[in-house]
Amino acid sequence: MIIILNRDIRKDQKTAIFNYLENKGFKVKEIVGEEETVLGAVGAVSIDPRSVELLAGVKSVIPISKPYKLASRELRKEDTVVTIGNVKIGGPRVAVFAGPCAVESEEQIMEAAEAVFNSGAVILRGGAFKPRTSPYAFQGHGEKGLKWLKAAGEKYDMPVATEIVSPAHIDVMRDYVDIYQIGARNMQNFELLKSVGELGKPVILKRGMSARIEEWLMAAEYLLAHGTDDVILCERGIRTFENYTRNTLDISAIPIIKKLSHLPIIIDPSHGTGLREKVHPMALAGVAAGADGLMIEVHPHPEEALSDGPQSLYPEQFDKLMKDIQALAPVIGKEIERPVRKSFIVHKLADRDAAEDGGDLRVAYQGEPGAYSELAAAGHFSGKALSFRPSKSFEAVFDSVLTGASDYGVIPVENALTGSIHECFDLFLRYPDIRIVGEKQIRIQHNLIALPGTAITDIKKVYSHPQGLMQCAKFLETLDVEQVPYYDTAGSVSFVAQQKSGELAAIAGAGAAAVYGLEILKEGVETNPCNFTRFFIIARSEHPEPENTNKATIVFSVPDEKGSLCGVLQVMDSNGLNMKKLESRPIHGKPWEYMFYSDVEIKDPDDFINIASKNIRKATEDFRVLGIYKAGI
Ligand code: PEP
Ligand code: MN
Repeated sequence: MIIILNRDIRKDQKTAIFNYLENKGFKVKEIVGEEETVLGAVGAVSIDPRSVELLAGVKSVIPISKPYKLASRELRKEDTVVTIGNVKIGGPRVAVFAGPCAVESEEQIMEAAEAVFNSGAVILRGGAFKPRTSPYAFQGHGEKGLKWLKAAGEKYDMPVATEIVSPAHIDVMRDYVDIYQIGARNMQNFELLKSVGELGKPVILKRGMSARIEEWLMAAEYLLAHGTDDVILCERGIRTFENYTRNTLDISAIPIIKKLSHLPIIIDPSHGTGLREKVHPMALAGVAAGADGLMIEVHPHPEEALSDGPQSLYPEQFDKLMKDIQALAPVIGKEIERPVRKSFIVHKLADRDAAEDGGDLRVAYQGEPGAYSELAAAGHFSGKALSFRPSKSFEAVFDSVLTGASDYGVIPVENALTGSIHECFDLFLRYPDIRIVGEKQIRIQHNLIALPGTAITDIKKVYSHPQGLMQCAKFLETLDVEQVPYYDTAGSVSFVAQQKSGELAAIAGAGAAAVYGLEILKEGVETNPCNFTRFFIIARSEHPEPENTNKATIVFSVPDEKGSLCGVLQVMDSNGLNMKKLESRPIHGKPWEYMFYSDVEIKDPDDFINIASKNIRKATEDFRVLGIYKAGI
């Protein structure tokens, strides 16, 4: 049964409920959701739910109608996200597990790991205990294989997944394994499920070859009931009368599981089809149907593989598949999982040593040194030691923060004269693990910049970002010059400095003139002095809540029906929220459908989260809080 707790329940009341249920023979799990905190009580005992309803701190009691309880969506409404090291599986991500069917030698697993890592896999797979149909087939290298697998995982910064076939192997496996895999042949080996569940570690549960979805979820229930919270379901094809493929990959299991269970589900098109050439289309189908990840067999030399060679991809094929998944995922509102890489963490430590004070914050921004974003960053982090990471594109700024190469990113989101910088808003949808932690506004004061000693009358060409040229149109009309668009304002200053020509000038901020040793010939050449730009300070989602927050940025879509947007506005109104901005953006991959971005003034972050998770979520379709932060000045 599900016991919904009062929001303001006291600790001692909760303990009393736990004790009551455990004394009656139930196993009790606390599930903290966005909307409510519930206890799940399961066991082979029956009890009158009214006796629980009477306990202090209990709001209501709901029986779970399904035979599987802990695995059921009735118990937990939000998706479970399984975290393994830096890797997350579930939610808006597509995580790719890849590697050979079996670990065959140290060289083979290292070569495979390097290839799949370079293409973007996040978990390394490889069997050391192989359950083979024939007793004469290669059975795996056992502990030696586990050692090689772990070493490859450590070298390439990927947690490792490997199959366990017997409880007797737990002791030897414990030190090497990050994720235990229960194979199709063992899905209903209940003693194995109990023992692996008790380890409390993440488990991939493959669907049995002839298992119904309900039997599969009952097997997951064994794992959950015995101690682990982290079960990843894996559809790997079932036996049907069709024999063109090795198995029939049941893609429809994905939306069914999504409805019945909160657990993540991944797709294994390698075993699902048994044919290399069928892996690519079925992997894409799995992602399109909403899978949380893929498990792909990749072998550096499939023709030499000791098992499952015909279904193993060549590294080049895997690389192409990863590129296609990257392109496909945003169409269904997902992004390929890209965790912080240890190599960057090591790099970060090295950097800090080099900085001597040991504490520089690494801040990425788009543009060349001296860019307005750098000025915004310096203003926001004023008084802190900063080490800047000028980046080629806005996407590179998001990447730098996501991978841990930078602690923060600073990106322009809106100009008071020209409006939103849409590319940056679109990137938030593609980077679900990035959030807004701050805001900074700066006045944009453009200057005419040239080599020291240049006379304005000698200038023939003026370089700047098209926005810079546009914003100084009136001033430029007074000069007899050619206007040359350049990709970046500070970059145009760097270009003029390199050309060393007295006939060239640039339009940019004062910071850029200082960086490149040029002279400001005329200050404040913008047409409208009310020229301000808002910047967001972005960080990884693990970043602690900022202090003194008073603003939130949200993104949502609404159902395509009468009054749906009005419903959201009414929620804002009835909860006393002041909407500061509302703007629509096309949804990529869904022509003529729109997402709405909104800035909202908030009084208390906890109150806002409460309203957001209860009321705004109900009035919207897709909904995300991009960040809660202190409004910048
Ligand atoms: C495997 O992943 O190598 C494997 C043996 O899978 P399954 O249990 O799905 O056959
Ligand atoms: Mn295999």
